[in-house]
Amino acid sequence: MKPGVSSEGVVAGETLGSFWETIPLEQMTPDQWESLCDRCGRCCLYKVEKAGDGRVFYTAVACRLLDCESCLCKDYEVRKNVIHRCLLITPSNLETIHGLLPATCAYRRIFEGKNLACWHPLISGSPDTVHEAGISVRSMAVSEALVHPDDLEYLLKEEGSSLFLFEDKHY
Ligand code: SF4
Ligand code: SF4
Repeated sequence: MKPGVSSEGVVAGETLGSFWETIPLEQMTPDQWESLCDRCGRCCLYKVEKAGDGRVFYTAVACRLLDCESCLCKDYEVRKNVIHRCLLITPSNLETIHGLLPATCAYRRIFEGKNLACWHPLISGSPDTVHEAGISVRSMAVSEALVHPDDLEYLLKEEGSSLFLFEDKHY
């Protein structure tokens, strides 16, 4: 669960308004910053960059800490201690890492000067729209805990692997 955010994705006791349009990222409160995440879970998938053309494909295999139904991290507060490779997104490192995030990611979109997408809970008012729009990984991802490492390595090298979910494209 994201800190300070209810299961409905609404920050308790605070009217958010369209703060993301007026407040610079580095000046947002922790609650505002956290609420920018649409909880799609895409950043928790393994991805593969194709040799030669640099195209990036996201796979159906998710970090073992991802709850593939809720699309939330099961140990969010201490995630970096548990999964050392987990990439923490902060206002100060977004300039460096935004290109590593999915093109749909709200943090990346805001950094690139775009508005939040129509499926975003802060736009729709519902935490379900990210799932209804097919942006979240719900019903598509499988935990790496269920995939043998040898199979994972083999399948990720396979051309046209059935594990490839989608190519990263801009929206
Ligand atoms: S890709 Fe971005 S919006 Fe989606 S879960 Fe990750 S940080 Fe949140
Ligand atoms: S540890 Fe990081 S990559 Fe893994 S599920 Fe949690 S947020 Fe996602």
